[in-house]
Formats: sequence, C-alpha cells, structure tokens
Amino acid sequence: MARRKKIYEGKAKILYEGPEPGTIVQYFKDDATAFNAEKKAVIEGKGVLNNRLSEFFMTGLGQIGVPNHFIKRLNMREQLVRSVEIIPLEIIVRNYAAGTMSKRLGIEEGTQLPRPIVEYCYKDDSLGDPLVTEEHIAAFGWASQQDMDDILSLALRVNDFLSGVMLAVGIRLVDFKIEVGRIFDGDFQRLIVADEISPDSCRLWDIETGQKLDKDVFRRDLGDLKDAYTEVARRLGVMPKTTAPITKPTLIN
Ligand code: C5P
Repeated sequence: MARRKKIYEGKAKILYEGPEPGTIVQYFKDDATAFNAEKKAVIEGKGVLNNRLSEFFMTGLGQIGVPNHFIKRLNMREQLVRSVEIIPLEIIVRNYAAGTMSKRLGIEEGTQLPRPIVEYCYKDDSLGDPLVTEEHIAAFGWASQQDMDDILSLALRVNDFLSGVMLAVGIRLVDFKIEVGRIFDGDFQRLIVADEISPDSCRLWDIETGQKLDKDVFRRDLGDLKDAYTEVARRLGVMPKTTAPITKPTLIN
C-alpha cells in the first residue's frame, strides 16, 4: 500500500492527504497535553473516544444546518474531513466562568455568566495562544468583518446545540473552543466549523455532582481521563463497543 502523505502533526491529531482533492484524513492520537504541551501523557484509548465524539457532535451539527468539515468516519481513529484554510483563531464560548477567565477576571469558577461570552485567541503555540480583540483581528487581517460576523454566528449556534445535547444527559457545558476554516466553492467562499469537538476542547461538568468530565481531569490531576471521556460517550450513546477491555480467552481442558 502506498505511504500516505503527512500534512501536519499537532499535539492531539495528525492530518494526512485524503483520497480525493479537497479532503483530509484526520487521525486522533492518544497523546494528552496541557499548558501548551508543558504537561504530556499518553492516555490509551483517548484518540478512539475523541474520534467518535467529534463524529457525533459534527454529525449532529450538520443535521441542524451548521456547516462543518466532517465527511465520514473511516475507522476507530480516523475520519475523512474537508480540507479547509484554517482561520488562525481559537474561538472560545463561555457559559460559566472557569479556567483562564476566572483567573484573569477573578470570577469564581462555576459562576453563571449573564450571557454566553465569546473570546478570540490568536492561534500560535510559541506565543501560548494569546487573547486578542476584534481590533487585532481586523488590523492584522486574520479575518474580515464578514468573517467575524459568520464566526460569531457559528460559535453561538454550536453553543446552543452542544448545551442542549449535554443538558439532556445531565452535563453542563461550561465552555468550549472551536476552530473555523474557509472553503472555496467556485467563486464563493464560506466558513465552516473544523478541527474537532471533544472533551479535549470543552469543559463538561456533571450537573448533579459538579464532577469534571473533560481535559481538566488531566490538567489538574483529578483522576482517570479515559474514565471521564468514556462516561461522556456512554451518556451520549456513542460508546464504541470495541474499546471494551479485551479479555484473554480462557483455556478449557
Ligand atoms: O483555558 P481556558 O479557560 O481559556 O479554556 C477555555 C476553553 O477552551 C476550555 O474548554 C478549553 O478546553 C478550551 N481550549 C482549547 N484549546 C486551547 C485553549 C482552550 O480547547 N488551546
């Protein structure tokens, strides 16, 4: 079999050239990183769970008309997606204060925000993805005003969808990050949701107990990350059966 061309390797995923022009194979690794890769570990099975969960969220978004890059899942760790020109922004939507917002503004984690707050960070690992304003984005040409209107609308629609899906299974969507990419259809271009949506990029708290079911479990050493992600997958009914522990056959004399 011909060797695939690797296009990019990130902290949690590898992108390979897809079988058709305009497509990419997105491979989910088991690597977990935090604090801009200062903390690292391999969590066996994380890639399989995130592949399934991102498929679940992207498919659901597609069904309600939120355009995104997902085409189809190929296997346990890979999915076929549309190739996009990534806008160099991390788009964060917050419903409750947590993480860097709590630190920055001194608001207690878990405080409900008066309305969803959208923040933008410039996507650059070497700078630690700094928070930027729409002034920076416009002045440096990272996105146009039309792009920003579309990005805000996509971000809020993803928030409505994800909040509802999570609430239905007893999980509070505290915040999340998405990335958006540009695709070209002939003379037209439009923005679609890209990258991934998974517990790596969301904060998910159990509504009853407040238990964290997202990457903060790893960031803050709160327990087993795979158990947390498996619980999210189980509640959403996307638990891949093949990730169940493989028991050795018992020899019968
Ligand atoms: O760290 P912070 O509180 O700014 O993160 C807000 C949300 O964005 C969290 O859900 C976090 O997992 C996500 N995020 C991400 N990738 C980053 C930064 C934040 O997925 N590089």
